[in-house]
Amino acid sequence: MKFAFHGSPKDSCMATFAQRLAAAMQEAGHESSEAVPGVGLVFSHVDEDHVRPFRRHAQATYIIALLRLPEVPADFLRAAYPYMIRSLGNLMIAVVGPEHEEETYFVTLERGYYRIAPQRDPTRHMQEVVRRLTPLATSHLIIDNIFDPDLEPDLWQGNEATVELERAGHVLDAWNLLPAPFPMQEILSPEDFRHVQRLYQIGGLSYGNLSQRHDRHRYWMSASGVNKAHLHDVGQEVLMVKDFDDSQKAMRLSVPSEVKPRRVSVDAIEHFMIYREHPDVGAIIHVHAWMEGIPSTDVNYPCGTIELATSVANLVRQAPDPSRAVIGLRNHGMTITGRSLDDIMERVDGKILPQVPMS
Ligand SMILES: [Zn+2]
Repeated sequence: MKFAFHGSPKDSCMATFAQRLAAAMQEAGHESSEAVPGVGLVFSHVDEDHVRPFRRHAQATYIIALLRLPEVPADFLRAAYPYMIRSLGNLMIAVVGPEHEEETYFVTLERGYYRIAPQRDPTRHMQEVVRRLTPLATSHLIIDNIFDPDLEPDLWQGNEATVELERAGHVLDAWNLLPAPFPMQEILSPEDFRHVQRLYQIGGLSYGNLSQRHDRHRYWMSASGVNKAHLHDVGQEVLMVKDFDDSQKAMRLSVPSEVKPRRVSVDAIEHFMIYREHPDVGAIIHVHAWMEGIPSTDVNYPCGTIELATSVANLVRQAPDPSRAVIGLRNHGMTITGRSLDDIMERVDGKILPQVPMS
């Protein structure tokens, strides 16, 4: 992969970090580039006083924002996360603490943040940083949607399944498992907000999604960025997923002919793989929370990537009963399968831990 740096390091500590990072990237076989256009990975130095968003022209460019915080903030995520959004990063690496005692943290769009274990040897530490960032930077998003106006008219107002989805959304909301979307509009200019929407194809970072099988091939799923406590309008808040178009790397959706549709949740590819493989799975819920003793993915691939979907599908397959599996997504949340939404709710009631362990 070709990589480049953008902007200037904030202090000598960050300058050293960037040099070591470049060296470790090259050692791992990646090619350094002076010019930014056309490279697959850009490390972009954040200047807190003038956060200048890095505007890429291609979705395929992965941006890692580099943030320097000389002091450890009391609320790390609250202090660091807005800088990632404002610099339009896919991931952020924060170098935190006084020079020579600094620690390295990763911050993800899913609001995960974790420390990369320190090592006495800076070269080994940087090898670990590169090892942890590479799978994220090389993963592939499946976020394009193709809308076919072919939904049967008797489903335009929904059916029993969409009523159940709506009810389950209310329950998750009452359990406080659906935190409000991050208020990106408040920290971004209207222009940058539109850019983020185009870039990530998201209407707002809201967390969690739910789906319910319709027939052998199709399932209903919550839309992207909508309030999951209000899943009602077909084509807008709930969508019928009918297929994955492998050649176009896009989800195919059936929508009512007269509705301007919203996009389906970015995790549609993950649910798709599970429903197709396991006919007994009737419903799937994904929340940013945890449960004691669950198996977990190794790599915290981003939401909506084929790599995340594949690693979750692999763990579902290995579960004693794939139609009743609880799978941890490292540093992110869980995906739970069930015969029905009620089946899932009954099994997890009282067992959900609001805090996802970070490592
Ligand atoms: Zn998620």
